[in-house]
Amino acid sequence: MYSSQESKSTESVNFIQAIIDKDKKNNKYGGRVHLRFPPEPNGYLHIGHAKSICLNFGLAQKNNGLCNLRFDDTNPTKEEIEYIESIIYDVDWLGFDWEDRLYYASDYFDRMYQDALTLIKGGKAYVCDLNTDEIREYRGTFTIPGKESPYRNRSVEENLSLFEGMKEGKFEDGARVLRAKIDMSSPNLNMRDPVLYRILKESHHRTGDKWCIYPMYDYAHPLEDYYEKITHSVCTLEFEDHRPLYDWVLENIQAVEPPQQIEFARLNMSNTVMSKRRLRVLVENGYVSGWDDPRLPTLSGLRRRGYTPEAIRNFCERIGVAKTNSVVDIRFLEHCIREDLNKRAQRVMAVLEPLKLIIDNYPDDLIEEMDCENNPEDTASGTRKVPFSKVLYIEREDFHDNPPAKYFRLSPGREVRLKNAYIIKCVGFVRDEKTGAIREVHCTYDPETKSGRPGAMRRVKGTLHWVSALSALPAEVRLYDTLLLDSGEEQTEEAGDDGLIGQLNPKSKEVLKECLVEPGLKNVTPGEKFQFMRKGYFCVDPDSKPDKLVFNRVVSLRDNWEKIMGDTQKNS
Ligand code: ATP
Ligand code: MG
Repeated sequence: MYSSQESKSTESVNFIQAIIDKDKKNNKYGGRVHLRFPPEPNGYLHIGHAKSICLNFGLAQKNNGLCNLRFDDTNPTKEEIEYIESIIYDVDWLGFDWEDRLYYASDYFDRMYQDALTLIKGGKAYVCDLNTDEIREYRGTFTIPGKESPYRNRSVEENLSLFEGMKEGKFEDGARVLRAKIDMSSPNLNMRDPVLYRILKESHHRTGDKWCIYPMYDYAHPLEDYYEKITHSVCTLEFEDHRPLYDWVLENIQAVEPPQQIEFARLNMSNTVMSKRRLRVLVENGYVSGWDDPRLPTLSGLRRRGYTPEAIRNFCERIGVAKTNSVVDIRFLEHCIREDLNKRAQRVMAVLEPLKLIIDNYPDDLIEEMDCENNPEDTASGTRKVPFSKVLYIEREDFHDNPPAKYFRLSPGREVRLKNAYIIKCVGFVRDEKTGAIREVHCTYDPETKSGRPGAMRRVKGTLHWVSALSALPAEVRLYDTLLLDSGEEQTEEAGDDGLIGQLNPKSKEVLKECLVEPGLKNVTPGEKFQFMRKGYFCVDPDSKPDKLVFNRVVSLRDNWEKIMGDTQKNS
């Protein structure tokens, strides 16, 4: 089953696990395994981060190790407390525990500064007065070697004094930087005297105005890992070319037992955007309702949509970890939540587009309480009563006055079963005089066919869900389709932000305001999930009120995953 997705996972978990196994065997790091999840608090977490969270915390669990949660908050211009709070909430919600190891890179600014002094004193770093454009120009390209900066050979004393001046705020933003002194002709551009510190007179959400120089990612990240005694620093493939710099920094501050960087392929998913920057474009320009819009792949969006942590963890486990980039089909994520909710979501009846149905021969005042199974997949879930009466509502699409071939639902002269109730026969219908639309359908019922009685054995081709007009509750139901029309993010990255907007699916959200649900749903709370029979899985939205229920469709019932994977053995 799930052939390609699953086999990938077994091989690839092994590739990082294999490194850990080998290290344990050689008693590297004294047998310790210590990982971290290091988000930059500049946006909300998405399903790609979930992959990284599951991988890091998962490896720690499997190896009796530890995993830290660390905010990589070295860039004060884009970071906000709101993001920190959402990230903490999301990692916890996913089911992982960092215990007392919640760290902030900004807490290490003093120590990082001291290590920069060590580099300067060792002749490994210098203050450079070239501006950003000049630095780029001097750096060269893949084919042209770089040129050395005219400031490269400043004395240690001069460098120390200028670097201190930078820290004291004596120079303007951009006037000077601290650079590593490595090799301007290195084939790896990252090694051509990369910038370690820049001047930025910007308030930081934790350190306030204490600092006006901030470390660059490539300098800060290895140090953060080292200070926390991380052993395996797992990151995504685009940092592969940065690994020599990661190692250089640690070597040149004479790190003892330096951590090692290991890269894996980031998660890309079809029909959606994953980069925080691009998500922000959608949120800030109102293309979606917020970071928790149920169409977004953010964890807050998925949660509001009705995804469970279990389904997301299961998805992350099954897609596996590889060394080459690929795009995962979004329908596999949908398959995972369907599997989960199939087992645990209570089944109820809800009519999304109601059509009135009157049972002409049913007593006017009679209300019968029909026994309904809560979930045939879960024998412990029991049954409930649902009221049945003379006037009901069925789905508009479940009646056809002039049915096409193979239409087994209701039509003039035909019989269907009403789920958990009776067999009915259509004896007529009424059109709206003005619009011509069908306004109501008339039926008769056969009292001998009540569900649970011997007469119920009689077979008819169609079974419809329904609600009683006397007791059904009004509801709004929001249906979703994919956010982007097709393909993966890579294509839209190239097309720029306009390309992204052009790819938005105009039908990604449809709101049905006249829905009716069975009365037992009166006191549902946001986050509760149900299967609406024949209609899919639905989750109560935070906008829901007792007098106006609001549901999001998590996913439809139809699961083509096995077919998509070319698997003939169906999972029934
Ligand atoms: P984005 O590109 O969405 O802005 P990022 O890499 O800048 O993401 P960080 O906050 O720096 O976001 O990421 C925290 C951790 O999550 C990093 O270790 C990063 O490698 C990992 N990560 C981010 N996106 C993905 C992804 N799509 N798949 C797997 N891991 C990811
Ligand atoms: Mg980043």
